[in-house]
Amino acid sequence: MTEAEQMQRIEDKKICLIYTGGTIGMSRTDSGYAPIAGHFQHELDRIDDLRADGMPKYELVEFSPLLDSSNITYVQWNIIAESIASRYDDFDGFVVLHGTDTMAYSTSALSFMLENLGKPVIFTGSQIPLCELRSDGKDNLITSILIAASGKVNEVALYFGHKLLRGNRSMKASADGLIAFSSPNYPPLAEVGIDINYNEPRLKQKPRGDLLVQSIKPAKVGVIKLFPGIQFELFAPIVTRGLDALVLETFGTGNIPNYDEALPPLITRAITNGTTVVVCTQCSQGTVRLGAYETSSELAKAGAVSGSNMTTEATVAKLYYLFSLGLEHSEISRLIETDLRGELNQ
Ligand code: ASP
Repeated sequence: MTEAEQMQRIEDKKICLIYTGGTIGMSRTDSGYAPIAGHFQHELDRIDDLRADGMPKYELVEFSPLLDSSNITYVQWNIIAESIASRYDDFDGFVVLHGTDTMAYSTSALSFMLENLGKPVIFTGSQIPLCELRSDGKDNLITSILIAASGKVNEVALYFGHKLLRGNRSMKASADGLIAFSSPNYPPLAEVGIDINYNEPRLKQKPRGDLLVQSIKPAKVGVIKLFPGIQFELFAPIVTRGLDALVLETFGTGNIPNYDEALPPLITRAITNGTTVVVCTQCSQGTVRLGAYETSSELAKAGAVSGSNMTTEATVAKLYYLFSLGLEHSEISRLIETDLRGELNQ
C-alpha cells in the first residue's frame, strides 16, 4: 500500500459491485428462486449498514441477463474482466456477486485473465438469498466490501463464511452449509472473527506492471473422473477425437487402473492428435506425483503432464487461458506445470 492509500479514509474509498446473478440477489418466484432485474438494488437499499459510518461508497453494475451460475461460461468471464478493466482506475476495489455453484471456476479464470492485478477483486454470494430472514448474504457482502476497501489484497479472492480464500485455490465444498467453500491446499488469506485477520505472508504484493487483460476464447476441454471398473473403451471416441485438452481426475497421487493396460494407448493417441492431457487427483488435499507408483508412470511415459495440487476448477480455467494465448502444445504443457498466479505448489 502506498502512503497516500494508507492516509485515505475508508469512507472516501469507492468499491464497484458487479452483480452477475446467483442466490444472494434472487427473489422467490413460482418456479423457485430466480434472479430478477433490479431486485438486488432493492435488497441493497434495505441494508442500512451499507450507508453506515466506516463503510466505503459503492456503485452497482448489474449484468443483463442475470444468471444462475450454472449457466456461466467463458462469455461471462470476459464480461466480468471487461467490467473490471474499464473501471479499474475509478475504483479502489471490486466485489463480484456470483452464484456459488460455479464461483470457484470463475475466480480461477479471472485470476489468470487479470495479469498484474493491483487491486482487490473479491467474489462472494450466499447460500440463502438476501430476501430471506436467515440470509448469510449480508455478512458476506459487507465483509467483502470492507476487504475490498482495505487495500491489502492484490488478487482475485473469494470471501465466504468468515474466510477469505485465494480464488484459484478454492472449491465449493458444501451444497447447503453456510461455510460453503474450502481451499484445501492453501491457507486462508484472511480469517474473520471480531477482527479481520489477514495472513500477511500469504498475500500477494502489488505488481510492478500495468493490468493486462486476456480474454478467453472457446476451447474443447474435457474432464474424466476415473472410478473402479471404468471401461476406457467407452470413452475412446471422446479421448481420441481431437480435444484441445483432457483433464483426468485420477486416484491419489495420479494413479490409474492398469490391469488391462487400456488407458495409456488412448492417451498416446490423444496426445498424437494434439490433445494436452493433464493429470489431477480426486483428493482435495495433496498433490499428483507421476511415477511414484507403477500405476501412474505409464501416464507420464505417454506424455501426460502433472496438474500437481491444482484443483480441477483451476486446471480447467488455466487450460482455457493458455489456449486463449494461442500457445503451442509443448508450451501449454510446460506452463500447466508452472505456477502463474499462485495456483499450485507452495
Ligand atoms: N444455483 C445458484 C447459483 O450458483 C446457487 C447459489 O448461488 O448459491 O447461481
